[in-house]
Amino acid sequence: NKILFNNQITARERFIDIEDRGYQFGDGIYEVIGVYDGKPFLLEEHLLRLKRSAKEVHLQLPEKIEKIKGNLEKLVQVNELVEGIIYLQISRGTAARWHEFPSPEVSPVMVAYTRAEQRMSNVEDEGAIATLTEDIRWLRCDIKTLNLLPNVLAKQKAVEQNAIEAILHRGETVTEASASNVFMVRNEEVYTHPANNFILNGITRQQVLQLCNKLGIRVKEKPFNIKEMLQAEEVFITATKLDIVPILKVDQHTIASGNPGDITKKILHEFRKLYQKQVKS
Ligand code: PMP
Repeated sequence: NKILFNNQITARERFIDIEDRGYQFGDGIYEVIGVYDGKPFLLEEHLLRLKRSAKEVHLQLPEKIEKIKGNLEKLVQVNELVEGIIYLQISRGTAARWHEFPSPEVSPVMVAYTRAEQRMSNVEDEGAIATLTEDIRWLRCDIKTLNLLPNVLAKQKAVEQNAIEAILHRGETVTEASASNVFMVRNEEVYTHPANNFILNGITRQQVLQLCNKLGIRVKEKPFNIKEMLQAEEVFITATKLDIVPILKVDQHTIASGNPGDITKKILHEFRKLYQKQVKS
């Protein structure tokens, strides 16, 4: 498999410097983009978010978005990827290790690669269990940066408990999960944390909110607490790699009847139509 290194599609064996700021400080940003039927899914939306992340950390994108888009499409083609993901990251570049931005300025280092992966349709249909963990991240979770240590620790804890995800809470408030957004249904209304500095505004989250509007399901972008979530009619999580996964249990608490909820299933059904539409186009 080839990779994208700055502007070049090349062999994977590339030299990343030991003083790359991504490596030393986590000083960089990234995106994970789904690929279905050989085409990147919601690529424009992901690149818009990348642009926003770059701006928020004062990182100059090495290329115009259009050029990055073309290169990613080319990478998928060259690798003959049918189903899987693209990982794209941009670090602030390589320079002697001082915390402040390098002066004189250095070029950012952009890397992308693809990975073949099957959709997780089973778990999407059947649901999964999650665990609760304190959200110990910084106050700019809206930026998709390489600093993922709190997310790594939370996810590891989930895996050790055979849970698909760690649902994060700040005090009593549920924010999101270690690598996905969290929703609950109460009185047939869909609730999710507002897209502020406490969560990453997931591309899947944004699609789900649009689909709810289309389906006439009422949405409240309003924080909810742990107790409200445990007493909800339905809970589900969303992410590029998971689509929409019903959460049947959170630690020892079964959510409602312990089955995937009707509203969740309806949204999932509609979401699947989105990429089926892409397959046909
Ligand atoms: N929140 C966090 C913290 C994440 O890492 C992710 C996955 N990148 C998401 C939410 C879901 O975002 P998306 O739907 O864009 O994959």
